[in-house]
Amino acid sequence: MSDFIDRLPTSVADLEEDAHILHDYEGAVSRWCHGCGDNAILTALQKLCAEEQLPPERTVFVSGIGCASRLPHYMGTYGFHGLHGRALPLAEGIKIKRPDLHVFVNTGDGDCCSIGAGHWLHAVRYNMNMTVIMHDNRVYGLTKNQVSPTSPKGLRTNTSPRGAPLEPLNALSATLGMSNISFVAQAVDWLPAILYDIIHQAFLHRGLSFVSVLQRCPHYLPGHFDPYIKNPERIRLLTHPNGIHPDEASFLQSRGA
Ligand code: SF4
Repeated sequence: MSDFIDRLPTSVADLEEDAHILHDYEGAVSRWCHGCGDNAILTALQKLCAEEQLPPERTVFVSGIGCASRLPHYMGTYGFHGLHGRALPLAEGIKIKRPDLHVFVNTGDGDCCSIGAGHWLHAVRYNMNMTVIMHDNRVYGLTKNQVSPTSPKGLRTNTSPRGAPLEPLNALSATLGMSNISFVAQAVDWLPAILYDIIHQAFLHRGLSFVSVLQRCPHYLPGHFDPYIKNPERIRLLTHPNGIHPDEASFLQSRGA
């Protein structure tokens, strides 16, 4: 109790000094392509940090390799830009050693579902308290256009010149099939209010929350998500009584309702 009283601010000036504004969470200037959906995810995460007043010195963003994995550089918090597919074991190590930290993981579809797939499976089982965002652009972007596990069948890339031969892996159903999963959601980068609500609920969840974000890559897959963007009727907002409650009004607005 005395510890708690010692930590209470003693004046309004102390309170102001402790408050964080959005700018406190901004790091380097993003080098992602113009129109890249990663920018929307970054904006949502910076807003979340400010809204939750997360101390930058007790917040860490961990990533593997890929376009998405640049994100820790753009945050004004601690970050760890790791090796390809290894973001999750790095984050687990950080969480074990420093359970007081707010731990976020940013990983791409290739990073998570290909080279990091074994870590993905076990991180879900371990269910540590962290927020995992998978940026699913359905292609390897940083290494310049190779087929990823979530690429649609028939996609022509540098490694699939005749078209991807396999049906894509469904990251959501794969995650739901793992034991001990406690939070799974999907969002899209082009509905920022809903994206924010979902990421916010994922952060509030105690345990591992896995959020797959459909993310536009206008450089290698221009127009790929246009059927959903131009016809919002094709997107369904899923809710249930014990689930998340994103702002339905902003969703309806996006559909012109
Ligand atoms: S290549 Fe694609 S995923 Fe990578 S920064 Fe450019 S638009 Fe974004």
